Amino acid sequence: MNRKALASIALIAAAAVACHRETAAPPVAVRPSILFVTLDTTRADAIGPEAVGVTTPSFNALAARGRRFRWAYAAVPQTLPSHTSMLTGLYPAGHGVHENARHVADNQALISEKLHAAGYRTAAFVSSFALARRFGLARGFDLYDDEAPGGRPERTAQETTDRVIEFLRGSGVGSRGSETGSFSDTRHPTPDTRAPLFLWVHYYDPHYPYTPPEPFRSRYPKQPYYGEVGYMDAQLGRLAAAFQQQVKGPIAIVLAGDHGEGLGEHGEQQHGDLLYQATMHVPLVLIGPRVASGVSDAPVSTRRIFHTILDWAGIDSANSLLKSDAEVVVGEAMKPFLDYGWQPQVMAVDGSRKAILAGKLEVYDVAADPGETHDLAAGANLSRQSRAALQEYPIPSMDAQQSASNLSAEEQRKLAALGYVSSVARPVVRTDAPRPADMAPMFPVLDEAARLFVREQYAQAIPLLEQILVKDPHNLDAALRLATAHSTLGHEQAAFAAYRRAEVIAPNSPDVRTYMALHYARTSEWSKAVPMLERIVAETPDKVPALEALALLRERQGRIADAVSLRQKVYSLRSPTPAELARLGEMQMELGQTAPAIESFEKARALAGAAFKHDTELGVLYLSLRRFDDARTALDRVAPSDPNYPMALFKRAQVSVLLHEPDAPDRIAAARAHADGLTRELIARERLFR
Ligand SMILES: [Zn+2]
Repeated sequence: MNRKALASIALIAAAAVACHRETAAPPVAVRPSILFVTLDTTRADAIGPEAVGVTTPSFNALAARGRRFRWAYAAVPQTLPSHTSMLTGLYPAGHGVHENARHVADNQALISEKLHAAGYRTAAFVSSFALARRFGLARGFDLYDDEAPGGRPERTAQETTDRVIEFLRGSGVGSRGSETGSFSDTRHPTPDTRAPLFLWVHYYDPHYPYTPPEPFRSRYPKQPYYGEVGYMDAQLGRLAAAFQQQVKGPIAIVLAGDHGEGLGEHGEQQHGDLLYQATMHVPLVLIGPRVASGVSDAPVSTRRIFHTILDWAGIDSANSLLKSDAEVVVGEAMKPFLDYGWQPQVMAVDGSRKAILAGKLEVYDVAADPGETHDLAAGANLSRQSRAALQEYPIPSMDAQQSASNLSAEEQRKLAALGYVSSVARPVVRTDAPRPADMAPMFPVLDEAARLFVREQYAQAIPLLEQILVKDPHNLDAALRLATAHSTLGHEQAAFAAYRRAEVIAPNSPDVRTYMALHYARTSEWSKAVPMLERIVAETPDKVPALEALALLRERQGRIADAVSLRQKVYSLRSPTPAELARLGEMQMELGQTAPAIESFEKARALAGAAFKHDTELGVLYLSLRRFDDARTALDRVAPSDPNYPMALFKRAQVSVLLHEPDAPDRIAAARAHADGLTRELIARERLFR
C-alpha cells in the first residue's frame, strides 16, 4: 500500500487510525477545539485596531493574541457562496455555488464532514435564512441550529450567542475553572478524553437594514452600519469568553468576514454585484496552536480557512495559512452575469496590485488607493500569475445552473426580506453585454423591482421593470416579470406585448414558453395551456413553475391522481408549505390513499403546529385503519370553533364505543346535541350507537 492510499484510509478511519499515521500531524491529544466565527457583511475597515470611526474592543483583544491578516479577501461577495468557499476550500468555480439560494452539491466535501470523520464533535449556529439547512451546508454537523424565533428570516447576535452558550454549558465540552484560557499552551495540553469540538457561529447583524439596538444606536447615530458592527462585536466578546471558559484543552479561533458592504462606493449600496474592496476586502484573524502572532501583509483568500482548520486537526497541512501565506488571490462576482447576462467578473490580487476583468481590464494599487479611484490598467505591468489567474478562471456555464425558482413562494419572500432575489429566467449571454460597474445606478431599481414582484405588488413593480428594460433592453428577467405582472393584473394586451418582447430577446427559450403557458393557464385558455405545459414538463421535468401549473390544471380537469403525482414531484424539488401538504392530503384521501394521506396531514401538522386545521380528517383516516388510539388523539384536538366540530364529535363517539370507553353514552349524546344537517343523518343511521 502506498502512502497516498494509506493517507486516504486514515482520513476515513478517524481518530483510532490517526495515531499511526506517517504524517507530521500532531497526535490526537493536542488537536484543538476550534471556534470559527463568520461576521456577515463586515468590511475590513469597519472592524479591528485600524478601523476608523468605530471601536471593536472584543475583536481587537482577540486579534492582539493571534495573527491578523490585513489583506484577506472573500472568494465572492455573497453569503452562501462565500461560506461555501470557506467550508470547502474551493473557489466558486470549484464548488459550483455562485449565488445565494442555490444548493451546495452533496459531493462537495465540507470541513464539518472531514472533522466529524476524524472524531471531532461538530455544531453550527447560523443567524440568517441565507444559510438555512436546506441550502446544503448542514452536512457533517451533529447540530445545525438555523432557527430564528417566530419564523423570522434572521436572528440577532445576542439570540444566537445565547443559544451557543446554552449549548456549551449543556454539552459537557469541558469543565469550568483552571484549565481554561491559554490559546497557545499546546506544549502541555490538558489530557482530555472527550473529543475536541468544532463550533461554527455565524453573525448576521451588519447586513442591511441597519437597526442596531441601544447603546449602539445612539453611539453611531449617523452610521447605523457601524452600530451593528459594534453590537456584533460585543456579542463576539461574550461568545469568545464562553468558549474559553467552557472548552477544555487547547483551542483555536478563526474570525472572518464573508464579504463587506458597498456603503455607496462605486455606486453599490450593499454587496454581491461588484468586486471592489468595499465588498471583497474582509477581516481575518487566526488564534491558536502554531499561529505566528502579529500582522500579515500578504493577500490571502478566506477559502484557505478550510485548509488551516484541517492542519490544526492533523488531517492535512497543504495550503494551510499556518505554513505560508503567499498566493495570488482570486475572486468572482457572477450574479449579474447569471441573472442578467451582463459581463462576468473575475479579480486577481498579487501583492498590492489588484486586477478586475469584467468586459475590460481594471488595475488598482489597493495599498495606495484603497478606494480604487485611479485605474492603472493603461500602464500596468500585470504579473504573469495574475494574468493567468484572470484568463484561466472558468466562467460558469448557464446550463449547469440550478434554478432558484425551485423555492416555495414563502421561501422566496423570506430571501427577499433579506435583500436577495434571483432572476426567474436563464439570461441571454452576449459579448456586447453591459459591464456591471457601468450599471451600478440600476442596482437599487433591479432590487426593488424584484422585491415588489416576489411580494406580488405587481402594479408598483411595472414602472420599475419598464425602466430596467429601457436601460437594458436584453434583460429577459425583466421582460418576463413585466409580462407576468400584466398577466396577473388582467392586462391582456400589455401582457402579450411583453411576452412577444421576451420571445424576441430569447427565441426558443423554455423560460419564455413556461411563462407564456402560465399566462394561458391564468386566463383559462386551457386548450392552449395544457399542451404547452405537457411539452415543457416532458422536456424539462424539474421546472417547478410548469409542474405546479400543470398540477393545478389536472386538479381542475378532475385528474386527481395525476395532480397528486405532479405535486409529489414538485415537493421533491422544493419544500412544501403546510397548506400545500394539507391539500395533498385531501386529494390522497379522495383517492382512497389512506396511509399517504395520513403522512401528508401529519407532515402539515408538524410544520403548522397549532394552526393545523385538519385533525378531523386525520381522525377519520386513523379510524378507517382501525388505529383507534391515534384517531382519539387527533379528534380530541378539534376545537369547538372548528367548522368540522360536529363531524369530529360524531367520529369521536364512534371511537369511544369501539374503545369501550365508560363515557361513550355521554359522547353519543354530545354528538347528537351538536349535530348539523350532515351528521344528524349519519348519527341516526349509526348502528354502533344503538
Ligand atoms: Zn453575507
